[in-house]
Amino acid sequence: SAKAAVIDGKAVAAEITAKVAVETGRLIEAGGLAPGLAVVLVGDDAASQVYVGAKGRKASELGFHSVQHTLPLSTSEAEVLAIVEQLNRDPAIHGILVQLPLPRHIDTSKVIEAIDPAKDVDGFHPINVGRLAIGERDRALVSCTPAGCLLLVKRVLGDDLAGKDALVIGRSNIVGKPMAQLLLQESCTVTVAHSRSRDLPELARKADIIVAAVGRPEMVRGDWVKPGAVIIDVGMNRIPAPERGEGKTRLVGDVAYDEAAAVASAITPVPGGVGPMTIAMLMANTLTAACRAAGKPEPK
Ligand code: NDP
Repeated sequence: SAKAAVIDGKAVAAEITAKVAVETGRLIEAGGLAPGLAVVLVGDDAASQVYVGAKGRKASELGFHSVQHTLPLSTSEAEVLAIVEQLNRDPAIHGILVQLPLPRHIDTSKVIEAIDPAKDVDGFHPINVGRLAIGERDRALVSCTPAGCLLLVKRVLGDDLAGKDALVIGRSNIVGKPMAQLLLQESCTVTVAHSRSRDLPELARKADIIVAAVGRPEMVRGDWVKPGAVIIDVGMNRIPAPERGEGKTRLVGDVAYDEAAAVASAITPVPGGVGPMTIAMLMANTLTAACRAAGKPEPK
């Protein structure tokens, strides 16, 4: 008896990337360079290879200059830093993305901090994290997944989120924390829950907006959800699906979808919700970085 509206992240992402393609054309016509995105991948992690491939393809599709540095697992930290430095100096490159996780012998913080903050399209550099935290979002580059989640919330609730009670479940640097900062910036009353939080169901029942970024399959139950709440499910969890055949799996979110959809007013599906937004926001960030580098107004 699902009654919630399904938030079609795939469709919203397609709208955003179509707009990025148009704005890219305008930037080039106005004498700017095509946005340049460099993706650095170290090692042979299968999931990372898939992500990096998808990012490169999307960038090319949008008329970006797209380069990929694929380095063997044995690459030293110094070699990765040297590539980052070279990309920092390259005027054709506006966005640098180092695919995480990096192999254990490489200090992730050191690599992230080596990226020119103006080219940090993942929004992980402490300068960008700090700008977001002090309310200077306009000068920052913001982490792609939470930026995409906020857009989806606004699709449902409109631009004015002031006074809404928002619960973010998860406090990672990549999703939970920047999500909380963005919602705070929108004047929501933000609660950030994590593994040590007490009585999560009770916190959830008070929330007008729930963003779940935990990594636990179907943890958020229907009876945690306040009637009419908006639910953004960031989780991507692969679980066994014997009903599909032996050894088969399926992807589920952090929210028990059918239960929650019976109570919420709107909910993102998994897959097809937040996932496609992440890559769209990466493209938007790269365009923003290119516009700033060219001294041109950035598309809103
Ligand atoms: P992390 O593992 O870095 O963070 C998980 C967070 O959940 C932590 O803050 C942890 O708390 C909290 N947590 C764990 N167990 C519980 C619990 N029982 N109750 C409440 N909180 C809990 O994950 P990420 O933030 O990187 O990712 C979260 C999920 O989102 C994953 O499923 C990931 O695959 C997905 N993801 C999807 C993306 C997309 O594009 N759609 C992009 C990025 C991630 P504590 O800090 O106390 O350990």
